[in-house]
Amino acid sequence: MGSTEQHDDKGTAVEERGEAEAAARGLSRRSFIKGASFVALGAGTGLALAACSPAASEEPGAASDAGPAPNPEASMAAPATERSSIWDIGEIGEPTQSIEAEVCIVGGGGTGMAAAVQCVELGLKPVVIEALGGYGGSFIGTEFITAVGSEQQKATGASDSVKDAVTDHLTYHHWIPRRKLTEAFIGQMADTAEWLEDHGIGFAFTAGYRNRALAYDDGGEAMRGLNFVNILGGEAERLGVEAHFNMRARRLLVEDGAVKGVLAEDADGRIVEFRSSVVILGTGGYANNEEFRKEVAAWDIGNAQALGMNCRNADGIKMAADAGAAMAESLGTVMWCGPVIVGAISASWQTGAYVAGVQPTLWLNQDGERYLREDLFQENFSGTGVCVRNQKRTFVLFTEEDLLNWETSGSYAFPFSFGLPGTPLPDIRPTLEPLDSVHVNESIEAAATEADLDPAAVKATLDRYNALCDAAEGLDGEDTSADEDFGKKAQYLRPMREGPYWLCEVADGFYTTVGGIKINERTEVTGTDDEVIPGLYAGGCDAGGIHGDSYDVMYLGGSGASWAINSGRLAAKSAATFLGK
Ligand SMILES: Cc1cc2nc3c(=O)[nH]c(=O)nc-3n(C[C@H](O)[C@H](O)[C@H](O)COP(=O)(O)OP(=O)(O)OC[C@H]3O[C@@H](n4cnc5c(N)ncnc54)[C@H](O)[C@@H]3O)c2cc1C
Repeated sequence: MGSTEQHDDKGTAVEERGEAEAAARGLSRRSFIKGASFVALGAGTGLALAACSPAASEEPGAASDAGPAPNPEASMAAPATERSSIWDIGEIGEPTQSIEAEVCIVGGGGTGMAAAVQCVELGLKPVVIEALGGYGGSFIGTEFITAVGSEQQKATGASDSVKDAVTDHLTYHHWIPRRKLTEAFIGQMADTAEWLEDHGIGFAFTAGYRNRALAYDDGGEAMRGLNFVNILGGEAERLGVEAHFNMRARRLLVEDGAVKGVLAEDADGRIVEFRSSVVILGTGGYANNEEFRKEVAAWDIGNAQALGMNCRNADGIKMAADAGAAMAESLGTVMWCGPVIVGAISASWQTGAYVAGVQPTLWLNQDGERYLREDLFQENFSGTGVCVRNQKRTFVLFTEEDLLNWETSGSYAFPFSFGLPGTPLPDIRPTLEPLDSVHVNESIEAAATEADLDPAAVKATLDRYNALCDAAEGLDGEDTSADEDFGKKAQYLRPMREGPYWLCEVADGFYTTVGGIKINERTEVTGTDDEVIPGLYAGGCDAGGIHGDSYDVMYLGGSGASWAINSGRLAAKSAATFLGK
């Protein structure tokens, strides 16, 4: 935020103007100066008010006479001055254009699209501000959405209820998520499945625990999520939603403690002021902001790799904090997803190289030892990712024979809707061969040495693994007794006696972050003591309170996508009530 340079140029004028406004609002000089250090160019644009919002005040009660302002003591998780530079939202100039809107939706991904369409249906006029060139965000990578109680789930004969699902989810997360919020989320899922169908989204099949997840139709597109985005984004267009693409929201406008709009920057650096009494944040969390992730996640993971679109920079979370929001417990929770061969995956994840990296062959850590049962990925990619995260270095080992099998007959196992057994994967070899992270050698010891691992340790692990595989011979494929060390299913215990060996170093992949802004069951953004910041709502990966210390793919597979769509709808409904519609 505010730079020295701006203070040198204009500091005095800014301070004087802002101080007058601060005085008018009951803020002391001391608290104003503290706020002014956050926003240098704010005065005169309404930003001084944001800078001096009670959130930035160090004096409890300083804004007590300023209308519905949040309690300054409680409005942030930590006082602004104690926050590190990762929370800075940078300088922003004067707006050259002003646009009036009833509702501003920041982010046009899963949350933003759902919020926009729902707003129109409720008689509101939303404006979408999206940093990229079109709708979608990382939602385009999704395939499954949780829909407890949907007609599709019922048709499978699965017995289930919202109450069961809420209990399952809270139990999985050690009761960290907010119960009422979880109930609002899961309670709306069946209606949302129907709502999506009404807007043209089809569902192909059910999956997961109690068939709670629905896979979307692909509509002939390469990715199911892309088809979903084409349809829902198309609906937003058909309904006349005003979308401003290539426009990055930078700061919330706050007046008298209530949100009054957003300052955004277009591709040419021009600042546009969007004035509205409601702002819905849906910028997708902070997956691509490494500095932010490392600090709030508190794990020093050198080799984490975000999958999906490079568009999630913590903007929504930082803007909310700047406006006085608290963060929910588990801000640092990440949707880890396990091995990703280093250098093999770019924005697109539906590739053979991705599938190869998670096959249940033999996985090793920095000591050349196994550290989990490798088929855990098939049922819980999230838990697998946590295991990978807790090693220093990780590797997957397979043989030339395995690779030939995958090239001709597809994977041994895969939990998503692509890369399934039976589908040949011809792109693995050309993708992996040129990579520095991939060591191919006739001798396992030589491959280990190339990878900077102890060759004797790797050889010993391989010998032990082959012995476990021998013990699995003739057993039922589901039998886990042969793997005395970790309990991998017999069907995946395939001995590796001959090279060439492919020893690949892997990063810990993650799909998204899932911790964020503190919200209540109406998706209203709040301060520490649950006091509402009027007009401000958050959803999707910007919002916290739905997860504990990891992502629940066990009982609520598809809940990331489901939360985005459902929170977008919930936010629109709350906004309509707030605006008296
Ligand atoms: C490869 C992959 C596969 C996945 N598969 C699944 C799945 O099958 N099921 C599931 O439940 N979850 C899945 N997820 C997670 C899912 O993608 C997210 O939970 C979901 O997209 C979150 O929605 P969102 O609206 O919060 O963020 P996004 O959908 O990412 O949208 C955020 C939008 O905000 C925009 N934005 C960011 N900053 C700004 C700014 N300052 N101003 C304006 N716009 C901004 C971005 O450009 C983006 O368009 C997957 C994720 C990945 C990466």
